[in-house]
Amino acid sequence: MDKRGTVAVDGPAGAGKSTVARRLAAALDYLYLDTGAMYRALAYKALRHGIDLRDGPALAALLRETAINLYPVSEGRVSVVLDGEEVTEALRTPEVNASVSQVAGFEAVRGEMVARQRGMAGQGGVVMDGRDIGTFVLPHADVKFYLTASLDARARRRCLELERRGFPVEVTRVRDEIAHRDMLDSSRPYAPLAQAPDAVLVDTTHMEVEEVLAHVLKICRRRLA
Ligand code: C5P
Repeated sequence: MDKRGTVAVDGPAGAGKSTVARRLAAALDYLYLDTGAMYRALAYKALRHGIDLRDGPALAALLRETAINLYPVSEGRVSVVLDGEEVTEALRTPEVNASVSQVAGFEAVRGEMVARQRGMAGQGGVVMDGRDIGTFVLPHADVKFYLTASLDARARRRCLELERRGFPVEVTRVRDEIAHRDMLDSSRPYAPLAQAPDAVLVDTTHMEVEEVLAHVLKICRRRLA
């Protein structure tokens, strides 16, 4: 495979995007770019600074003076550094989960984030995951996937993930939280969560991670040849 292409992975919360995108990037020897982490970093900083999350211009101004860097560590994992501080784990708390979609809804915030993301995709060789990558950030991506799963399956997975991170939560609460976040993400007027017409739909409800990975990798190897 000679081509250093671009791969977009979109879908709702808990569909397994980040696990698949990270492993796919490692298998292709590409860089994994987690765009959700960038929105999470801004939400985290806004919460810490007591910024009103309904104030789009204030959030956009905060972003302009914020450095968010994604550094590859092992096996496609990324370390998120916010203004020089390592915050990877801190971005996964229930507080950030509950605020991030509101922060991500503002056009001025998204404009700046998208410009940074396009810059990071640079010369290719990237797998980027998010909500609007195939539709908006990289409309000419070589391969696009839309990963989804039933709400119950996604809630169960998120629950396990939160438990592993030391935040045990009831599955019904997680289900409500991701359903609410999906609703906000799909109904916002600017670059909402949507499947690009040319994206390959992968329903992971009854699939193991290895199975999903083998499937997407096969498609990538064919398209990027
Ligand atoms: O992927 P993750 O769950 O970390 O994303 C957190 C939130 O960031 C999403 O619920 C969404 O509100 C926002 N997001 C976005 N556009 C992206 C990536 C994430 O609006 N490309």
